[in-house]
Amino acid sequence: MVETHLLFHPFMGTMIDQAKKILKTVFGYDGFISLQEDVIENILRKNDTLVIMPTGGGKSLCYQIPALIFKGLTIVVSPLISLMKDQVEQLMESGVSAVLLNSSLTPNEYRRNVELIKKGKVKLLYLAPESLLKSSVLEMLSSVPVDCLAIDEAHCISAWGHDFRPEYRQLVDVRLRFSKAVYIALTATATPRVRKDIKSSLNFEDSGEYVAGFNRENLFLQIVSKNNPLDQIIEFIRKFPGQSGIIYCFTRRQVDDLYTVLKDEGFSVRPYHAGLSETDRKQNQNLFIRDDVQIIVATIAFGMGINKPNVRFVVHFDMPKNMESYYQEIGRAGRDGLPAHCMLLFSYADIHKITHFINKKNEHEKRVAHVHLNAFLRFVETDDCRRIPLLNYFGEEYSIEKCNMCDNCLSGEKELTDLTIPAQKFLSCVKRTGEMFGMGHIIDVLRGSTARKVLKFGHDKLSTYGIGKEFSKKQWMLLARQFLHKKLVIQDMEYGSLKLTDKAWDVFQDKETVLGHLKKEYNDKDIEEESKIKTTPDHDKDLFEILRKKRKNLADHAEVPPYVIFSDRTLIEMSAYFPQTMESLMDIHGVGIVKREKYGSIFIGLIQEYCRDLEIKERPKNINIQTRTLSRQAGRQRH
Ligand code: ADP
Ligand code: ZN
Repeated sequence: MVETHLLFHPFMGTMIDQAKKILKTVFGYDGFISLQEDVIENILRKNDTLVIMPTGGGKSLCYQIPALIFKGLTIVVSPLISLMKDQVEQLMESGVSAVLLNSSLTPNEYRRNVELIKKGKVKLLYLAPESLLKSSVLEMLSSVPVDCLAIDEAHCISAWGHDFRPEYRQLVDVRLRFSKAVYIALTATATPRVRKDIKSSLNFEDSGEYVAGFNRENLFLQIVSKNNPLDQIIEFIRKFPGQSGIIYCFTRRQVDDLYTVLKDEGFSVRPYHAGLSETDRKQNQNLFIRDDVQIIVATIAFGMGINKPNVRFVVHFDMPKNMESYYQEIGRAGRDGLPAHCMLLFSYADIHKITHFINKKNEHEKRVAHVHLNAFLRFVETDDCRRIPLLNYFGEEYSIEKCNMCDNCLSGEKELTDLTIPAQKFLSCVKRTGEMFGMGHIIDVLRGSTARKVLKFGHDKLSTYGIGKEFSKKQWMLLARQFLHKKLVIQDMEYGSLKLTDKAWDVFQDKETVLGHLKKEYNDKDIEEESKIKTTPDHDKDLFEILRKKRKNLADHAEVPPYVIFSDRTLIEMSAYFPQTMESLMDIHGVGIVKREKYGSIFIGLIQEYCRDLEIKERPKNINIQTRTLSRQAGRQRH
């Protein structure tokens, strides 16, 4: 265990200096990412804090570091046992005394953990909300000084979130018992409604609210039209030999079918869906987490409670449910900050199925579902950087024109067509119909349809009736989405009706030219720009494999997932800089004092042997390159 009070004298430097020192010596990182530093400072000042950061954004350190600075205990409430276990294992590996209290422990283990807590030997206690609410647990904790209460997956407190858990609601009463404790609530769910709910449910008064940017720079986003899905999938995963990935399907049957095909092709793969027994699911998940199996084919049931940082690809074999699910699912890739590839296989036939589904719902649900679907279509059909519609959806402006990490940005300049005339036709039709109708109706009028709705409103008498017959309905849809995207019109969130913007008037008056794309079919789009995708830092692949084998060995021995020992990034840096002394090992990402003591000589031994044979010299690590990558998720802050 790290004796923090020996390493950091309370009167030495400011608290934030201490935090930085812990970051390096315990966790082995060179600098804070995203909003970590601000959040930690706020917590250390004992201000209640709400943290919204995307998956992989680095939320855990926001309370783990203060926990090591506070004298008393930090309680972490989390809904998922597997996640808690994972965190405790990782902390223990870094020499931090963290324990769990739950029903999976034997009575002896439970008693031992309680003793450690009572003696003040524990820095972090992880438990589920229902465990914390037990009177025996509250009683036991009443004699323990508690400095911080961290509420992970805090959206569970809100009925507006996607995972409401009623017992979270009672956490507010707990705060009366721990009057000295500061509260920190963390989630990756960004909607303002949920945020508000969390704060009011927990009685946060003057709380700081920290919202990080939602852009995950290291994820490569690609959408491919689904022509020959099995071949497409196989070709795709062949590009990732030995690397972990998840393939999402819509139904259990599809999971089973695809699993069988991939298995027969010789891939290391397992299925996961709610139709499997609990034992099978657990086993398949564990095999995946421990790098014994490369690929999981799954329904959306898979992913909650997975902390595996080195997932290198996520494929959507079918359309995700909506933008939020998509974001959450791709979010499971590249948690370690290294590049990861997200591919979606898209077909209009799938859209048809979904529309069919939606049309069975009641009026209100139908409208909401169509708005969600349209938002997703905007993301699929855009020719601009994919990050623009994606982040816009989450209320974030993406101001960089090219991310260079999506198919569109890499596909080079495409020819633009002057769309001013069709735009004028479309916009004037919106105007003539009183800005009260949605896309479908406007297009019907433009194409001179005799649909009942057109006749009922007398829209066949308008001057814009039938002036757009030169384009098919599908082409008009594509055009209309571009107009929407260019903000010539805005769409009512609930009713889908279109309204003109000031920009539309500039188009009417020929003050503005509208440029865009006039494609016949989406199928034209096929992007093979793989080579341009950013790859991992230059490193010695053979050495990496040697180190990886060793890591797996050690992990199996300790019965933990390999990433608990060292992350991929740590091994990549080792095989890029060839550290051969205990001192230079400390410069490597993810190597703290305790891990160095534990594993340093083993890994240095392997590196030395490799370098001796090949006459390779140690390379100094340029910390500047490091800091650049560390700022990968520079975020915004709102109060
Ligand atoms: P979240 O809980 O927000 O999904 P985690 O706390 O699991 O994210 O962190 C995601 C990844 O980022 C982890 O692999 C973690 O080791 C890494 N990480 C967190 N903070 C830092 C940092 N300051 N420097 C480098 N890596 C970091
Ligand atoms: Zn882009």
